[in-house]
Amino acid sequence: MRIVIKIGTSTLAHPTGHLNIRRVEEMCKIISDMKNAGNEVILVSSGAIGMGVGKLGLSCRPSDIPTKQAAASVGQCELMYTYDRIFSQYHHTVAQLLITGEDVKNETRHNNFNNTLERLLELNAIPVINENDTVATEEIVIGDNDTLAAIVASSVKADKLILLSDIDGLYTADPHTDPQAKLIPFVHCIDDKLCALAGGTASGQGTGGMVTKLQAAKICMDCGCEMIITNGNHPENLYDILDGKTVGTTFTERK
Ligand code: GLU
Repeated sequence: MRIVIKIGTSTLAHPTGHLNIRRVEEMCKIISDMKNAGNEVILVSSGAIGMGVGKLGLSCRPSDIPTKQAAASVGQCELMYTYDRIFSQYHHTVAQLLITGEDVKNETRHNNFNNTLERLLELNAIPVINENDTVATEEIVIGDNDTLAAIVASSVKADKLILLSDIDGLYTADPHTDPQAKLIPFVHCIDDKLCALAGGTASGQGTGGMVTKLQAAKICMDCGCEMIITNGNHPENLYDILDGKTVGTTFTERK
């Protein structure tokens, strides 16, 4: 299977911005095992800004663009160093791809990006993709890694996109405030009623939220790729997904 996994900042880092060592080590171990079982895995990883905040000792996530970009350039190094170090223990090789909206819109650049990705998969590497935050300002930004991950999943014709988030999936109401909120296991159609359920970002660490996840689901459903939202606090969910168990919320066309 060809699987794209999007890892959110809140899965990678503690609220302090420092690496959540136990979780990241567990996650990389499971992803390595997925590769060993013969799957092709592409990661779309957030965390550059979040980890840059930790490394630079900033008191909170910056709101101005130059500081965000500075934090991203520091954090991206830390991110790739971490992935390289941990995946190497399991004899896997990582590759960094940083792109912007321009690289997706421009046909030649999009093709170049796709060719590189395909070759990396043939070479058995694990591509790790992020937005190139140091150059991506408003005009050219994709904006969030949920959408970026869906664009990647559709361009490489992935079988599945798994979004590792800080929430178990899509709920009937906000589970942080409503004890009656129930997890929705399957979504076959994204209509206005469903969009009304989506709120903003819960953790304040990343930029995503349910709105961007539903946008990502639309892109995936349009190209026949199944998308699953599951909680990144429990990386072992990845095994359950491979075993065909129902975890989190699955967005799929009705068969
Ligand atoms: N590119 C951003 C980062 O690495 C994250 C964007 C997102 O989480 O959607 O910090």
